[in-house]
Amino acid sequence: MNLSEYIRNIENFPKAGVNFKDITPLLASSDAVEHCVQQLLVLIDHQKIDKVAAIESRGFFFGTLLAQKLNAGFVPIRKPGKLPYKTLKEPYQLEYGLDALEIHEDAIKSGERVLLHDDVLATGGTARAACNLIEQLGGEIVQCNFLLELEFLNGIKKLRSHPVKSLLKY
Ligand code: IMP
Repeated sequence: MNLSEYIRNIENFPKAGVNFKDITPLLASSDAVEHCVQQLLVLIDHQKIDKVAAIESRGFFFGTLLAQKLNAGFVPIRKPGKLPYKTLKEPYQLEYGLDALEIHEDAIKSGERVLLHDDVLATGGTARAACNLIEQLGGEIVQCNFLLELEFLNGIKKLRSHPVKSLLKY
């Protein structure tokens, strides 16, 4: 199956000059979703995973599916103010301004082996902030994995201490 056929390019979204990769056609096909899950599992290569941490909101789609397949727990990493219990917060730089991510302080136990998943790796700022949260809780990041990597944005540089894998590269 050619997964790239299920990724739609939306020009000038969310702002002028950005070519947004839309994964909704992929989500609309159960065959494509199943294929993605199987291919993501190949990238994980039977490594032991205790928790799958995924980033709001598009990371949640495959993050929960992967957690089930890996017999691992699922950990949501969310935008500020969304998680109800005590949180750790990590600010990160956007192209213009700052954003932040939060994690529940009891979501990961020290020494747990964590897979970080998100839909797209672009500049890497979001995934880097998520890694910082996981590591502040004592989690060991086994792999950062993505459906798509926008290689020309060099996000991998921000994650260089961790193995990075993705199904499609643009
Ligand atoms: P980064 O911090 O620049 O690497 O941006 C990654 C975050 O932005 C991820 O959480 C993605 O969901 C989102 N993102 C960036 N570009 C795209 C895109 O083209 N399609 C879908 N999501 C994107």
